[in-house]
Amino acid sequence: MSYDPDNIFTKIIAGEIPSHKVYEDNVCISIMDIMPEAPGHVLVVPKQGSRNLLDADADTLADVIKRVQKIGNAVKKAMNADGILLRQANEEAAGQTVYHLHFHLIPCHKNVSRRD
Ligand code: ADP
Repeated sequence: MSYDPDNIFTKIIAGEIPSHKVYEDNVCISIMDIMPEAPGHVLVVPKQGSRNLLDADADTLADVIKRVQKIGNAVKKAMNADGILLRQANEEAAGQTVYHLHFHLIPCHKNVSRRD
């Protein structure tokens, strides 16, 4: 499966579609998920286009995972969370619906169940 740049995250990165952006640098943006599984659920979306983790450029991945860590720590602190769930889907069978690599960061609190 190849990467199709005609996807919603490419349009958000280009500023063609509005989003609630919480972080941006030369490597990625981070936006609030429009259908959050828990309050504070954000997505980390690399600017470099790839369909998912399976076809991503290794250098991009190395850069992005550092942002995932940094943003994960910031979200945990901002949401006063007890933990952060990292979720990342590759292909339809795994639940992927937007075909531009992204990482879900979902704040978790003790004794609070999440919407799955
Ligand atoms: P899933 O829909 O199963 O979570 P993905 O891992 O592909 O599959 O996640 C895509 C995510 O993108 C979903 O959580 C969805 O709510 C989110 N999303 C879709 N469109 C937008 C948008 N315009 N702004 C923010 N988040 C979006």
